[in-house]
Amino acid sequence: MPIDRKPPLILLVDDDPAMLRLLSKWLEAEGYTVRCAADGREAIAAINANGPDILVTDWEMPFVDGTELCRWVRGANLPRYLYTIVLSVRNESEDLIRGLEAGADDFVKKPVERGELVARVRAGLRVVELESRLNLLAKLDPLTGLLTQRAFYELVNAEWQRSIRHHIPITCVMADIDFFKRINDVHGHGVGDDVIRRVASVLQANCRATDLVSRYGGEEFCVLLPETDEQHASLWAERVRQEIAALRFPVEGKELAVTASFGVAERRSDTEPPSATVDLADQALLVAKQSGRDRVVLYHALDRNSDGRDFLDNRGHLFDGIRASAVMTTVVAGLRQDEAIGQATRYFLRFRIGSAPVVNRHGKLVGILSDKDCLALMLTPGWSTMRIRDVMKPNVVCYDENTPVQSIYEFLCRVSIRTVVIVSDGAPVGVITRGSLLRWASNVIRAQQLKTEQFTAEPQLASMDGAGGGCESPRERIVRTTDALRREAEQLEKAVRNVTSDLTPFVVGGASRMQELVNDLLVCARFANETQNDDASAEVDSLQAALQHGATQSGRALPASH
Ligand code: GH3
Ligand code: MG
Ligand code: MG
Ligand code: MG
Repeated sequence: MPIDRKPPLILLVDDDPAMLRLLSKWLEAEGYTVRCAADGREAIAAINANGPDILVTDWEMPFVDGTELCRWVRGANLPRYLYTIVLSVRNESEDLIRGLEAGADDFVKKPVERGELVARVRAGLRVVELESRLNLLAKLDPLTGLLTQRAFYELVNAEWQRSIRHHIPITCVMADIDFFKRINDVHGHGVGDDVIRRVASVLQANCRATDLVSRYGGEEFCVLLPETDEQHASLWAERVRQEIAALRFPVEGKELAVTASFGVAERRSDTEPPSATVDLADQALLVAKQSGRDRVVLYHALDRNSDGRDFLDNRGHLFDGIRASAVMTTVVAGLRQDEAIGQATRYFLRFRIGSAPVVNRHGKLVGILSDKDCLALMLTPGWSTMRIRDVMKPNVVCYDENTPVQSIYEFLCRVSIRTVVIVSDGAPVGVITRGSLLRWASNVIRAQQLKTEQFTAEPQLASMDGAGGGCESPRERIVRTTDALRREAEQLEKAVRNVTSDLTPFVVGGASRMQELVNDLLVCARFANETQNDDASAEVDSLQAALQHGATQSGRALPASH
């Protein structure tokens, strides 16, 4: 934390150059830095430019005299207290009162006596020191001695502006102690406080003078690392993470260990305020928490093509009582971490899905691999034989199958990642993507509308799931799909007859589209026998299930997903 330890700066103001020379010699001999000004106007400029600790000013001066200068100082709202000493031949008490009321702190009689001046300056510095200590204390959290959140934001700006001006990186790290509530509950608040203090001191000990370390909330810390990019900040956070994990707290004859999770984000643009970067670090922290805690997650490493907000309005009740297992798309088969990327690619093509959980030998979730990861490698020699474990993202966000969907919804609204894996006993059993959740929700909304006999569906929702507005029976859907299939086949046939150049793109493109439609037909087939059902809502429920299933299986994306 930046605490000033420079030698005190004294500003001397007098219209008599000989006096200035003499006094500055005396004060410099005491180890102070001295600046001089010849009148009040010059003094104001010097105060603004240099921020002195003490002002020693002559009373009688042309233009702006000593008392006027004092009055200006008191009204100037300077960042720190400026202690003022007025030099004067006057010693009538009414003069002294006038000077004090103008804002002078002390007087020295002219002719100035060396010992007295030095002693009064020293007394003034004690006041300045006390004032700055009080000022700092108000900015510090009493438990940890770190900056409070408010002080953090007060101080952040200077470094932030510097980073913008000089195009240098600046990174924010959010840290949060894991399962801290449990520590309080099991061992009491005294132990909890001790944990917070020691974690704070590890953070502080790893910081440079220019870093800002704050206690952002209860057991949450925010650190600003100037001149540091996300990569270096993550190395820093990793070191701190390890040091925290190595701490031991003796409680009831045993040793308690704690861990913390970290989110790291670098400033991305010249226009966003510091709080926006803090927010990104917080998103990364959330992912660190949700993917197992005791780890460092970089915001950069999260998929971030869209900010993921506002994709559904706040229909909290929509998810009442619904658990993840009811909404997830079942995992067809997991990818093994020792398999090759070539195999994973075939897997993605075969099931036409965008990403898949990766498991270890025991079937436990260890990461996630996406088609994008495979695509990004395709130009690298030998890519297909690379191991999945070397390519996958290890920080996979997972939720137990019994988690309320509301929590997953809130998570997907807040962060930029799009897929969470649903686990049972550590083994992946399904996935929920932003797209699939949106589709699920929109189908439920439609079903609810049908139940209340509001047959007109919301137009955007209806067109998004491809069902073509209103409610469509499985029979109608089959007809519509076969029709589309026929048109695709005709187009391909026409191309094969007429195109003289390479046919490959036409065949691959047409066949892929037909393959999707065939898959949709297969999905519809499972529900085709239910068309006899008189109960409209049951039909809609099965259609909804079919749509949900078909949509996530075919991986056909909504505009904002995948
Ligand atoms: P997670 O791993 O998800 O972060 O779980 P958690 O239990 O750490 O998180 P949660 O936010 O649920 O709990 C934080 C707790 O910290 C709740 C609050 O009572 C406690 N707390 C906040 N300030 C202090 C404090 O100054 N001293 C103590 N002892 N506890 C505090
Ligand atoms: Mg004078
Ligand atoms: Mg916590
Ligand atoms: Mg917390």
